[in-house]
Amino acid sequence: MNEFIKSIPKNVKLVAVSKTQPCEIIRHAYSNGLRIFGESKPQELVRKYNELPKDIEWHFIGHLQTNKIKHIAPFVNLIHSVDSPRLLAEINKEATRQNRIINCLLQLHIAKEESKFGFTVDELQEYLSTGEFLNYAFVKIVGLMGIATFTDNTAQIRSEFQTLRKIFETVGKTAFAGDADFCELSMGMSNDYKIAISESSTIVRIGSLIFGERNYSK
Ligand SMILES: *Cc1c(COP(=O)(O)O)cnc(C)c1O
Repeated sequence: MNEFIKSIPKNVKLVAVSKTQPCEIIRHAYSNGLRIFGESKPQELVRKYNELPKDIEWHFIGHLQTNKIKHIAPFVNLIHSVDSPRLLAEINKEATRQNRIINCLLQLHIAKEESKFGFTVDELQEYLSTGEFLNYAFVKIVGLMGIATFTDNTAQIRSEFQTLRKIFETVGKTAFAGDADFCELSMGMSNDYKIAISESSTIVRIGSLIFGERNYSK
């Protein structure tokens, strides 16, 4: 694990994706120096937050239902997976109740697969042009996130990451011009993080490479 952690460039944040892993395994990763963990189910995240050290930064990376926002709003550090205008509006409502600003990434649909959530490039540009997000005092959009197609075709993966990086640069110069907080590009998982980093990813989300294959029957 340590060799892998050292291999990630210092300017790239490593999110250890701990979904399905028990707390004792997360504690072990924590003792190896990891402090950012990613979860994809609200209840599981809350349980682990309560049980584990309070200096852990918790990221939410899964599809989030609006009725579950309230469970994670008091403590979540970054929601990677904002995939609709309605979800962002609801996160702002809950963050307002909590009186805390929640950092969010807008998720782009870049994969060729049907099942991945997120804005298309056109939907993103149209949404940002409404300026609606500027009215939300308690959500801060700090960047974009995407999941590439699960494939061995590295050219395809690279091209999907390039699409994401281009739209990140474009909206950085338009909708988010002058906003220094809009700086994060969350892309790259166990099978494609090297490509993602070479395409300017700033956050990689790594599960199985750190923890081994997930066992969903647990
Ligand atoms: C599970 C998950 C990961 C980690 O996947 P690995 O292939 O185990 O590294 C990263 N991002 C998201 C959104 C996930 O759901």
